[in-house]
Amino acid sequence: MDNKENENKVKKIDISNLTMRQVMELDACTRCGECVKWCPVYVFDARESITPRAKIRRFKQILRSQNSLFNKFFSPDSLLGKLLCPEPVSEEEIRQFAAELYECSTCRQCHFVCPARIDTVELYEAIRMSLVNAGYGPLPNHMGLVTSTKSFDNPWQQPRSQRARWTKTAKKAGRIEDIPVILKAPKGDRKNMEANAE
Ligand code: SF4
Ligand code: SF4
Repeated sequence: MDNKENENKVKKIDISNLTMRQVMELDACTRCGECVKWCPVYVFDARESITPRAKIRRFKQILRSQNSLFNKFFSPDSLLGKLLCPEPVSEEEIRQFAAELYECSTCRQCHFVCPARIDTVELYEAIRMSLVNAGYGPLPNHMGLVTSTKSFDNPWQQPRSQRARWTKTAKKAGRIEDIPVILKAPKGDRKNMEANAE
């Protein structure tokens, strides 16, 4: 696919929600690899593409491919285009990047060991927002949470009025020790307690 076709097809990512610090952080990564040694997700799934340094590098490639001035003046098939235009990144590749960006427990360990002190998790979350705003999210496996939150104001796919039932099930399954106090209170008191908690 040539760059013009690619430009027309891929949805452009707006990064105006990133702070100035976060934009600078995209250039602050030295690729030293310290974060890789400490990432708990990488311990179980050692793919370079899910490391902080790879996420930052890939996002920069995507931004370059969408914002290069050279693309406006040179055909990528021309000699100068081949020399000057950044490599195009397809919509499918951006979707792959979005999926990998979510392969993170947001534990922030990479931030604490990073010599450049990059606020990694805040940066990932800002990039996630940019991706969702551009139409690359929510990811298919997030849709259940999104529709539940819209319908019920919670991620559990049931109305709040069913909370007593959830907790009984959880207690029966041994996932909680006891029914929360608020649910043991008489109905009238419960409403007041809920109103005070909100
Ligand atoms: S520790 Fe920081 S600077 Fe080093 S590779 Fe990781 S994110 Fe980049
Ligand atoms: S925040 Fe994400 S990328 Fe960083 S160490 Fe934790 S799991 Fe790994």
